[in-house]
Amino acid sequence: MKCYHCGSDTRVMDTRAQADLAVARRRKCEDPTCARSFVTFEGYAGAVNRKRLRAMADSARARWALRTRDRIIFRELHLGWQSLAARYRLTKTSIYLAARRGAASLKVKT
Ligand SMILES: [Zn+2]
Repeated sequence: MKCYHCGSDTRVMDTRAQADLAVARRRKCEDPTCARSFVTFEGYAGAVNRKRLRAMADSARARWALRTRDRIIFRELHLGWQSLAARYRLTKTSIYLAARRGAASLKVKT
């Protein structure tokens, strides 16, 4: 299972029976810059809302894509905000904010 925050692979740290038909798994993101922990539940598929699961997966992918873009913007600031603004169709302020998020997710001090 991928990390809900960054989309990286995760490792199962712990598995516990939650009820007769369900287990809870504690997972940890394997990307050391993210390293988030979270719990997933596994249960009888008849009880799962597939539409909602798909929506959750889509939003995790979207967050991962945005974070990757922000990191690239931070790394390419030397190109100048004008060329980045043109490439990503963002304003100067959005480029600045994206670069700050990118730096934060890379754990770089600004
Ligand atoms: Zn992660």
